[in-house]
Amino acid sequence: MHLKQINENVFVIQSRTINLGLIVQDKECIVIDTGLDKTSGQMVYNLINEMGLQLQAIINTHGHADHFGGNQRLVKLTNAPVYSSAWEINFLKSPMLEPFSLFCGVNPPQILKNKFYMAPSSPGEDIFCNKDFINTWGLEIVPLPGHTLGMIGIIKNDVFFVGDAYFCKNVLDKHPVPFLVDVDALIETLAMLKDKYDCYYQINSHQGIYSTSQNARQIIDFNINRIEEIYNVLEKNLDKGLKTSEELVKAALEYVKVECRTYLVYHLIIVTVNAYLASLLDKDIVEPVIRNNILYWSKVSKM
Ligand SMILES: [Zn+2]
Repeated sequence: MHLKQINENVFVIQSRTINLGLIVQDKECIVIDTGLDKTSGQMVYNLINEMGLQLQAIINTHGHADHFGGNQRLVKLTNAPVYSSAWEINFLKSPMLEPFSLFCGVNPPQILKNKFYMAPSSPGEDIFCNKDFINTWGLEIVPLPGHTLGMIGIIKNDVFFVGDAYFCKNVLDKHPVPFLVDVDALIETLAMLKDKYDCYYQINSHQGIYSTSQNARQIIDFNINRIEEIYNVLEKNLDKGLKTSEELVKAALEYVKVECRTYLVYHLIIVTVNAYLASLLDKDIVEPVIRNNILYWSKVSKM
């Protein structure tokens, strides 16, 4: 892990795969996200210990395992409280909810209960009910729904930790159909990040540290374009006739020129395509049609 100082109070703890936040006041600190597992939790503990800091709290941007997997170890070592939004706390406290929801709300198979999908459980409190904590640390907490329903961003001293609201170019090249659960909420979140907040830095959880609002705007636009392109590909594909969910996944993957060979990656794309379908259904653009006991999606006739 490598420590990068952003300003007097704000640091980024960088590993190969994730950026964690460290906010320091006097000899006290809070961390934003804790990484994938107990090893990352221990490494964060060792680092703040070496700096002579007392951990006062953990804030999780959202309840994905790679963001809160180190919580349990850190809480055990420091007894620090954990904060996130009320929705995300459900996932912290009951980590099985993540593979459970990914697998259509049934007891998920073991293949989805690995550490990338299911972290050790953690305590959690609703950060919006802890105004004293927010004020003491001079934070602004911003709801950023879309990648998950309850993701939050954290602003301190002109530095905005935006979680997985968007992905940098490298990550999008590797995962060209970015995971999302609410496409319309995400587009609104991204528009807000682009236009409303003029923070000097935006810190993305996976590799991206954008030092000017101009850089951040470019990468946000890149993300918005990709999401809108996939939306259009799915809609245009439905113009050609009835399509199954799997055919829509195929259309999205062919558009981004990817041949997916890994079930777990494919599964996340099915979930993401479902989020696009939910939006298309709610806007009365598509409707479900069952033919020969097969579920298809059909464009709604506007005649
Ligand atoms: Zn995530």
